[in-house]
Amino acid sequence: MLHIGCHLSSSKGFLAMGKEALKIKADTFQFFTRNPRGSKAKELDPADAAALVELMKENHFAPVMAHAPYTLNPAAKDGRVREFALEVMADDLVRMEHLPGAYYNFHPGSHVGQGLEKGLELIAGLLNNILNGKQGTLVLLETMAGKGSEIGGRFEEIRAIIDRVERQEQLGVCLDTCHVHEAGYDIVNDLDGVLKEFDDIIGLARLKAIHLNDSLNGPGAHKDRHAKIGEGQIGLPAIVHVINHPALRHLPFYLETPNELDGYAAEIKLLREAYQEQR
Ligand code: FE
Ligand code: FE
Ligand code: ZN
Repeated sequence: MLHIGCHLSSSKGFLAMGKEALKIKADTFQFFTRNPRGSKAKELDPADAAALVELMKENHFAPVMAHAPYTLNPAAKDGRVREFALEVMADDLVRMEHLPGAYYNFHPGSHVGQGLEKGLELIAGLLNNILNGKQGTLVLLETMAGKGSEIGGRFEEIRAIIDRVERQEQLGVCLDTCHVHEAGYDIVNDLDGVLKEFDDIIGLARLKAIHLNDSLNGPGAHKDRHAKIGEGQIGLPAIVHVINHPALRHLPFYLETPNELDGYAAEIKLLREAYQEQR
């Protein structure tokens, strides 16, 4: 079975997102842990979280994905900006304990002129600070488009962060199809080659989730602009290849395409039809 969902607004709470997912035939979803702009997270309602956990069990959901605010920069030059990222992520992980087995995805950060090495060190430093070996949440590093001084556009950079973290068992990777395409990995013509490279450098065992997006721009554009499925430069055949690939087909897929709920429903329907059930 294809495990697929999309990004949902968390404004109405956890159970409401679960119900919304069911309505569009999704069996997982992604949400922001808090307003990307604002810092303060809404008070978490444990009963609401428990109700979602129950709904997920009953409906055989794949793990849901919490996304850290994309405005955080764990590799910032300004110490207060790094401190803020640390506080938000540490607090998010405490809250995530109410959703056992969920994923927590974040953008590694931008080194803003300090150099790649310094950036890698700062990101790993933050992870070493917040991971305590007790959290029930797997923290995922997202592969990035390599915009500006963004870190995570190369598989080697993701590897270098993991290498510097003590509690590597709490780390995984989320591959974003738009981002890797714009980072210059040719998933359209050589998905096997890209996955081999991922396996050689990071290891496919670390790959826990896919952000499934088409891309407005061509390969290597480093711009990070998502497109609707089949309406971008990755195209439907390559995306169908991704969801059916033997190394990927068991993973949860999360759409982050520019859509409202009905658009997501249509994409989920399309992709479910294109998924080859194994018999
Ligand atoms: Fe992201
Ligand atoms: Fe993404
Ligand atoms: Zn993106």
